[in-house]
Amino acid sequence: VVGGERRIVVKRVEVFDHGYLRLVETWGSDEAIVEAARQSTQKGFVAWGGERGDEKLLRTLYTKKHSTPFEFAGATFEVRAPICVFREWHRHRVPFGYSEASARYAPLPSLDYVPTIDRLMADTSGSNRQAGRAAGAPELERGAAEEWEAGLRRVYEACEEHYRRGLEIGVPKELARLCLTVGRYSTMRATGNLRGWLAFATLRQSPGAMEEIRTYANQIVGMLEEEFPRTLALYREIGRGP
Ligand SMILES: Cc1cc2nc3c(=O)[nH]c(=O)nc-3n(C[C@H](O)[C@H](O)[C@H](O)COP(=O)(O)OP(=O)(O)OC[C@H]3O[C@@H](n4cnc5c(N)ncnc54)[C@H](O)[C@@H]3O)c2cc1C
Repeated sequence: VVGGERRIVVKRVEVFDHGYLRLVETWGSDEAIVEAARQSTQKGFVAWGGERGDEKLLRTLYTKKHSTPFEFAGATFEVRAPICVFREWHRHRVPFGYSEASARYAPLPSLDYVPTIDRLMADTSGSNRQAGRAAGAPELERGAAEEWEAGLRRVYEACEEHYRRGLEIGVPKELARLCLTVGRYSTMRATGNLRGWLAFATLRQSPGAMEEIRTYANQIVGMLEEEFPRTLALYREIGRGP
């Protein structure tokens, strides 16, 4: 235990070819959420289980959207993901803080996202037009997908070569990166309270979300589940944040 209720935890999962998600720190607990809600009566957390167990209060808070007690817990993650995933991630502004590695201070590591052939071919669109193929395009054949993937690798190599060349001849780092693509991996820390993470998960676990960010959201939920089991059980049951 560091700093009272703050917990430093080391849990890491690998995501895609070079990405990862690392739970850096959490604070608060299911009990702390109940305690925050009982501020008026000063009764605090009593106990789980039995007729008068505090799970009833936790459920009421959650289902009736008495949401602020869920702001008394939270988590910080370190994430490595393709820049196109960060672009979507950073749209979640409240109540998050982000600190991303800057390519102005150090060159970006030479890591680019190459989706699997199955991912390229999967029709994840459902009712979401954003995920489907371009209008008028045929159904993607495996051979064509493999050819496109090989081309993507060549593009990444050419971009990397141009980037390195720029750094070697003295182009400023902040400009040398102009030739890198949104498939380049970047690293950040993201911190937020539990209410925010569950709002993020609600939107980014939905079938309409891009599969890549959905994969990160799924892992986040799994990691939070171990830290806040009762709140996450409600999230699973109700299918949205508090
Ligand atoms: C499937 C999917 C497709 C998307 N497609 C697109 C797209 O095509 N183009 C695009 O630009 N974005 C797109 N987005 C991003 C989307 O529009 C939101 O920006 C993103 O989901 C973040 O949601 P949010 O604003 O609720 O989050 P946050 O910014 O974290 O805000 C959380 C909550 O705080 C409140 N809040 C925050 N800021 C304000 C404010 N300024 N005024 C009032 N209330 C505020 C709202 O209640 C909000 O729900 C997409 C998102 C999803 C999930």
